[in-house]
Amino acid sequence: MLTKTKIYLSSPHMGGSEQKFVNDAFNTNWIAPLGPNVDGFEKDLEHYLGENSQVAVLSSGTAAIHLALQLLGVTKGDEVLCQSFTFSASANPIMYQGATPVFIDSEKDTWNISPELLEIAIRDRIQKYKKPKAIIAVHLYGMPYKANEINAIAKKYDIPVVEDSAEALGSTYFNKACATLSDIGILSFNGNKIITTSGGGALIAGDIETKNKAVFYSTQSRDNAPHYEHSSVGFNYRMSNVLAGIGRGQMEVIDDRVEARRKNYDFYKENLEKYTSISFLEEPNGFFSNRWITCIKTDSYKLREQIRLKLLEDDIESRPLWKPMHLQPVFKDCLHFTDGTSEELFEKGLCLPSGSNLSKDDLNRIIKQILKTPHLC
Ligand SMILES: *Cc1c(COP(=O)(O)O)cnc(C)c1O
Repeated sequence: MLTKTKIYLSSPHMGGSEQKFVNDAFNTNWIAPLGPNVDGFEKDLEHYLGENSQVAVLSSGTAAIHLALQLLGVTKGDEVLCQSFTFSASANPIMYQGATPVFIDSEKDTWNISPELLEIAIRDRIQKYKKPKAIIAVHLYGMPYKANEINAIAKKYDIPVVEDSAEALGSTYFNKACATLSDIGILSFNGNKIITTSGGGALIAGDIETKNKAVFYSTQSRDNAPHYEHSSVGFNYRMSNVLAGIGRGQMEVIDDRVEARRKNYDFYKENLEKYTSISFLEEPNGFFSNRWITCIKTDSYKLREQIRLKLLEDDIESRPLWKPMHLQPVFKDCLHFTDGTSEELFEKGLCLPSGSNLSKDDLNRIIKQILKTPHLC
């Protein structure tokens, strides 16, 4: 019998010249968290992201969020407002700083942080405790959040925004790159993201001073002295020059990767939009998503599970949408401002295989399996 290979949700997709850059690192013995690939990868990203991007590449996206909170002075006793509908890595660094997360639900147009609930939460916290120290907003699945609205509220109350763009490299908002829309942006190059260095991340600052501070903290906060002198607590968060070589190779193909993911979305939509029990997340005007993952919303938990299990029968990976943070056991005691939007998405939503390396045959195999779901209408 012919054995079919497993289809993954989102798997690494090398472009071709990654190994050359990695070999350069070996040939010149730059096997360290600094070197020409680190500088080169940062330049590539700055060029790609455009204006106001000063990039520090780091060991992970989680590390980048942690450093962002450190740079903003988030500390014990502070509250940080965070989108509830996200991956736990958006919120965990709040805990590393000894601060407390307060979770905000999503709105229906982008599935991201709701401006209305954000403002209600800010007013409530100012009245009952003190002004929150920062806001963490997320461009989930590559769809930009409503940055104009969020920035206006942030400005009104003078609270900085950390822009979690881990899933949104290649997405734009009114022609501006995601990760450059707020005070500090972050990216991830984990194995499942649109480009990968196997593991890695970046902090995107608007000015060189902030970038330099991020690099300083990420390399153990070494003061300028011939011996090791430290006047603040440091972290070991810098990206390795070997892995940055993979990143340089990946940046050569980033446009192809975005195009391929968007084509996956179009393919699913063409084949499934006639079923009224399935809906897609459309781009509002001026919003451009990299379509990192194509998500569908079904009209019931039951149907969502039927589709997921049908796919599993043919060794095709799919996954329910992110479980909101305010429902996670680890954050069960945290305050939250929610209206049921993310809970419904979690209940009825499904992530479909979305890798840029899916073949036409893979896509047809996936659709064929989805269409075997009983009573799909
Ligand atoms: C992947 C991801 C992160 C964390 O990035 P790592 O590089 O895996 O540490 C943070 N936020 C979101 C939304 C992510 O998807």
